[in-house]
Formats: sequence, C-alpha cells, structure tokens
Amino acid sequence: MLRQMNILHPWNLVFLIGFVVYFSIRHTFIKRTRDVPKADSRIDRLEKFLLFLMVPAILVLPFLYWFTPLLSFADYSLPLPVLLAGLVAMIASLWLFWRSHVDLGDNWSVSLEISEGHQIVSNGVYRSIRHPMYASIWLWGLAQGMLLENWLAGWAVIPVFALMYFLRTPKEEKLMCEHFGDSYRQYMNCLLYTSPSPRDRG
Ligand code: SAH
Repeated sequence: MLRQMNILHPWNLVFLIGFVVYFSIRHTFIKRTRDVPKADSRIDRLEKFLLFLMVPAILVLPFLYWFTPLLSFADYSLPLPVLLAGLVAMIASLWLFWRSHVDLGDNWSVSLEISEGHQIVSNGVYRSIRHPMYASIWLWGLAQGMLLENWLAGWAVIPVFALMYFLRTPKEEKLMCEHFGDSYRQYMNCLLYTSPSPRDRG
C-alpha cells in the first residue's frame, strides 16, 4: 500500500520539499504581522470565497494525489525536461515569494487590508514588479503543474488563482489609490518607465 503512494516518487518528494518551504514562509510572516493593527479592511464575501477556493487548489488536491488513489484517473506522465523546468519555476517562485514578504514587511496582509502606519513599498522586488507576490503564485501554479503528474492536482492553481488575481488586483490597486493617492499612482506609473534617468546614466 505504502509503496504505491505517489509521494514516494522522487519528483513528488522534490515538490513536497518546496511545498514545506512555501508554507513555512507564509507561516513565519503570518506570525510576524499578526499583531499589526489594521486601519482599513476590504474583506468582503467574494474575497473570502476566493481565499477559500485557493485551499483545495494549493493544499488539498496535492495531498489527495500524494496519499490516496482518489485522483489516479487523472494521472499522466511528464518528460524529464518539463520536470526540470518545473524545478526551476519552483525555486524562482520560492525566492520571489520570500523576497516580496521581506520587502513588504509589516505592510503585508494575506488579504485586502491597510495597516496602521502602512507605507508604500517601492524598493527591493517592488522596484521592478508591481505585484511580485502574485507573480510568485503564478510561478508556483506553473511549478505545481510541471511537477505533479496529475491533471487535477497539478493544474488546479492556475485557473483558481487567475480568478482571484483578475478580481482582486483592481480592488487592491483601488484601495492603495484611495489611501495613498498620487504617491501610489506615481509608483504605478514609474514602473512603466523603468529606463534609467539621465542622472543614473551618469
Ligand atoms: N499585490 C502585492 C501584495 C500582495 S499582499 C504583490 O503581489 O506583491 C496584499 C496587501 O499588500 C494589500 O492589501 C496591500 O495593502 C498591500 N500592498 C500591495 N502593494 C503594496 C505596495 N507596493 N506597498 C505597500 N503595500 C502594498
């Protein structure tokens, strides 16, 4: 029985290690920002529903695939180059996920919230990407698809996160504009014009 479990396949173990790192990063920053008081919260029913949908996609389906035969009807095989590309996507995702949490610091929240003393972060990875944490989750979705050899457990994150990304991001940018006005608009515009200034060119 144990020998038939997908978790014992080497590429699944590789993904499991990444999975543990991913959730350790999240856990660390949830703990670190838990007591930061909030000045504004826009967690409506849609937002709760989207967060809820992410749980099966990112957590429950991989576990069902690893430890039970329930999803075996959707199994398939991936060639080695795809598995290797999945590993690269996983490492890049973990780095960006960690880096964006570090750069946001106390300004991070799992949902649409503004902390007391919230500041716009425009340094680190936020210097060149407006939504690096979401970029890391896109990459994670790709990595999951390229490392788990199952249509459901592998590819569920991409459509679920697409829904979340396209519904949440405009609300998040509106929230930031309402609180920070021209400073956030300027930050968004500056990212579109990243060519070096004459002073930077020397
Ligand atoms: N969309 C960003 C952050 C996700 S965390 C990313 O993908 O990296 C969500 C919270 O981060 C939002 O509620 C918002 O309040 C905050 N946030 C988003 N961009 C920010 C920025 N540039 N500076 C400070 N806070 C930001």
